[in-house]
Order: sequence, then structure tokens, then C-alpha cells
Amino acid sequence: MLQAQKSSSRAAVRRLRQTAGAQVGRWQQQRGVASSSEPYDAVIIGGGPGGYVAAIKAAQHGLRTACIEKRGALGGTCLNVGCIPSKAMLNNSHMYHQTQHDLKRRGIDVTDVKLNLPQMLQAKEDAVTGLTKGIEVLFKQNKVDYFKGAASFVNSTKLSVKLNDGGETEVNGKNIIIATGSEVSPFPGGSIVIDEEQIVSSTGALALQKVPEKMVVIGGGIIGLEMSSVWSRLGAQVTVVEFLGAIGGAGIDEEIAKQFQRSLQKQGLKFMLNTKVLSAEKKDGKVFIKTEAAKGGKEDTLEADVVLVAVGRRPYTEGLNLEAAGVELDNRGRVVIDDQFNTSVKGIKCIGDVTFGPMLAHKAEEEGIAAVEYISKGHGHVNYHAIPSVVYTHPEVAWVGKTEQELKAAGVQYKIGKFPFAANSRAKTNLDTEGIVKFITEKETDRILGVHIIGPNAGEMIAEGVLAVEYGASAEDIARTTHAHPTLSEAFKEAAMAAFDKPIHF
Ligand SMILES: Cc1cc2nc3c(=O)[nH]c(=O)nc-3n(C[C@H](O)[C@H](O)[C@H](O)COP(=O)(O)OP(=O)(O)OC[C@H]3O[C@@H](n4cnc5c(N)ncnc54)[C@H](O)[C@@H]3O)c2cc1C
Repeated sequence: MLQAQKSSSRAAVRRLRQTAGAQVGRWQQQRGVASSSEPYDAVIIGGGPGGYVAAIKAAQHGLRTACIEKRGALGGTCLNVGCIPSKAMLNNSHMYHQTQHDLKRRGIDVTDVKLNLPQMLQAKEDAVTGLTKGIEVLFKQNKVDYFKGAASFVNSTKLSVKLNDGGETEVNGKNIIIATGSEVSPFPGGSIVIDEEQIVSSTGALALQKVPEKMVVIGGGIIGLEMSSVWSRLGAQVTVVEFLGAIGGAGIDEEIAKQFQRSLQKQGLKFMLNTKVLSAEKKDGKVFIKTEAAKGGKEDTLEADVVLVAVGRRPYTEGLNLEAAGVELDNRGRVVIDDQFNTSVKGIKCIGDVTFGPMLAHKAEEEGIAAVEYISKGHGHVNYHAIPSVVYTHPEVAWVGKTEQELKAAGVQYKIGKFPFAANSRAKTNLDTEGIVKFITEKETDRILGVHIIGPNAGEMIAEGVLAVEYGASAEDIARTTHAHPTLSEAFKEAAMAAFDKPIHF
């Protein structure tokens, strides 16, 4: 009874809050676009996944909101030159490769398969344009004022905006959120200069007008491997040069990384691990890349038609004039924030790639929502232990939580449960059996500490692992949850069974 009263009074408070919020929203709608000198409740600098999500959420919470973006299109790195165009190229190059090499054994004879690269690039552009324009529609629906131009601080509450169409305006904010993202890191030491034609960053690699015969990719992290897959499937001979002894970048489980490398090698990619690139020089239409063993010694020269520099990204604050507001950066150029996204200056928050944490679109989005909730409600939530990573190759690789090597280093007692897709009925039916699901659980409590998947649809499947980590689930919780048959997700359940007890089909 007491519980029922409590929840009905909570519902009443919620209704009151909603009515008040809706009223504020209506006032704004009646007011329309205010003069830009009148302070906004929230001004967001940058219209990437962090910034545009923050702007929409702020408007939904009844705050008068503006978003300033200089690119000329919303969606930031992710939609314009990152997640979306890369996934368009990955999906379509996979289809091309499958049509050439995989359909025959499935009883589908296709002759005269040809690559129409201009059309593939156009399909990518169409996906980008559709999605970026879609955000503009969302801004209109939510009454977010969109300023197309570059913002720079005049002081801690005032921004000057250099408009893309010419001229300048001022925008004032009671709260300002910096969401200016990241940019491609140049090659250390400046010995390789990106021209976006022969020596390209990921941006150039998404727009090559011709399939290179030979391609060298410097960096075996997520972006390097995704781009390597695209161009290798389309016919390039790709060599990946990586300084470290494993591929996949930070956070990947070592066992999965090894399997991943074997799988990509079978597809024709070559790897030079523990190898340092010294320089790349253009000569006679080719690029000559000098390398040496990471620990010094053996030197080598590779020849390529195109070189991709994929050595990481760095925070972007150029032109923001942060000094005028007093916002502090750390020694890696990241905006310093506390656990509520506050910068060193009251009223200015920061989210996404330009501050701490993994440079991922979904991390930026979560921070955008939480930062706004701190402004409008005084509390927000991002669980940094439950942020998934995905490599969209084939097979896909996805993970959440801790790796075996991290737990070993921390002295945590753990158990492992694994299940191969080769023993999963749906994977067998689909003739797509490469990979495993791997659970890591706390030995004493069975709580899930990490989930690591290499296999078909790993990027979708990891959502269940993220939910499990977020809810503090045990392997037994997953093992006792019914999963539809025949689905790939049964491999997920059976890996949990393997961690908790024993699987049935392996
Ligand atoms: C090739 C590639 C593939 C990727 N794939 C994935 C993926 O599959 N999944 C994933 O989660 N992440 C992926 N990422 C990373 C993802 O794109 C970023 O983590 C994400 O875009 C960060 O969002 P953000 O809002 O912090 O910054 P950004 O997306 O970088 O947006 C910042 C925006 O701020 C604008 N801006 C900067 N300064 C100013 C200023 N002074 N005034 C006005 N506007 C300004 C910029 O023009 C930019 O549009 C990929 C990145 C690349 C390069």
C-alpha cells in the first residue's frame, strides 16, 4: 500500500514536471527565434553526435537552445567523414566481394560482376546527405536555432560567430557546451605530409576515385582496419604496418586480436607488426615508405600507389579562443572536465572527442544527454564501463568491459566461457561460421566483467552484452534467458552457459 502511494505520488510529481516543461516549450515556440544577443539557455558549439544530440535534448527539456556548426552540414565527423560513409563503403564492398567470391557455393551464379566505383561512392554520399539533412529536420521540429558558422569565445558567456555566408554575429549563452570533436592526427615528426590524394587520411581514403593496386596502411587500429578491408575487397593489395605487436587498437582482447588477424590474413591482407614507419616519399607516381623494426634495426622499403595514415585522432579546439573564456586544456590538448562535464569555467561544459575518454560517436551522444540533464535537472548518467567498441569488418569484432589482459594485470580472479559460431545452427545455415563469443566473469560472483565477440553481426549482438554489464548481470542471468532459435544470439547464450556451467552444443 505504502509502495503504491509512493509510486502514485512520484507519478504526480512527474506529471507536474512534464506540464511545466511543456509550458516552457510552448512559450518558446510562441517566442520563435529570438534575437541572438538575448542569452540562450544553452548554446552548443559543434553539431556532431555529441553536439546535435545535446542540442535536441536541451530543447526537449524546455531550454532555449542554439547550436553553432561551421562545417555547413550537421552530424560532425561521424556522419560526414566517419562512421556513416565508412559503413556505407564497408557494406557495399562486402556485397561486391561476396558476389564475386561467395555466391557460387550458395547456388547463385552471377556472371560479369563489375565494380562501378563512382556509383558506390555516390551511394555513400546519398547516405551521408540523407542523414545530415535529417538532423536539420530534427532541429526544426525541436526548435533548435542553427547557426552556420565558426564560434569563438569573446568571454565566458559570449561567442562571436563568423557566419559561413559572410558577416559575423554574437550569441550569448547562460550555459555553453563545447562539442568541437577531433581531427586527424598528423604523422609524428612531420615526415609524412597528407595530400588527400596519394597520401591520405581516413577522409581521403573514403573518396579514392580509383582502386589502388598497392595500398599501405599505417596503423592497425579500428579505422585503419576498416579502410584496409574496403580497398582490399575492391581489389587492392593492402599491407598494414603497425608499431605494436597486435592489431585492433586499445581495448581489444588479445585472444580475439590474434583470431581477427588470422581472419583478415585469409582475406588477403598483409601485416607488418612491431614495425615503425620512418618516412613516405612520393616519386614517379608511387610512394616509397621506409620502415624499421620497432625495437630498432632491420630497415625495409615498401612501394605503394596510395598510403593511408591512420595513426589516430586528436582533440580539436582551433579558433575557439578558449583563453578568452579561461577554459583549461591538459597536456594532450583535451578540454579538462570534472565528472559532471564542467570545464574550469562555471557555465561551460564539454563533451565528446574533444575531452577525455574513447573517441566514439555513441560515447559523445551519451555525454550530450547527460550534460544537458546536469543543466536541466542537476543529475545525469554515463557508465564508462559499459561503452561498446565495434570494428565493422567481416567478421565483425565487438567488445564491452574488461579484457583478460586487464584483469590479469589487476590481479582479478576470473572465469572464461566461450562458444564458437561453428557450433551455432544459424551460423552454419548461413555458411558464416567464423568466430567466437567469449565471456569473462568474476570467479566468485559470476558477474559479467567483459564480453568479446568476433563473428557475424557481432556489432548488433554486443548490445546484449552492454545491457548485461549495465545491469550488473551474471552469466547465469544470460544462460537462463530464452534466446530464439535458430539465431546467432544462441551463441551468446551458450557462451554464458559455458562461463556459468556448460554449453549444450559444444
Ligand atoms: C573514418 C572514421 C570512422 C569512424 N567510425 C566510427 C564508428 O563506426 N562508430 C563510432 O562510434 N565512432 C566512429 N568514429 C568516431 C566518431 O566519428 C567520433 O567519435 C564522433 O564523431 C565524435 O563526435 P563529437 O560530437 O565529439 O565530434 P565531431 O563529430 O568531430 O563533431 C564536432 C563538430 O564541431 C564542429 N566545430 C569544431 N569547431 C567549431 C567551431 N569553433 N565552431 C563551430 N563548429 C565547430 C566541427 O565542424 C564538427 O562538425 C569514426 C571516425 C572516423 C574518422
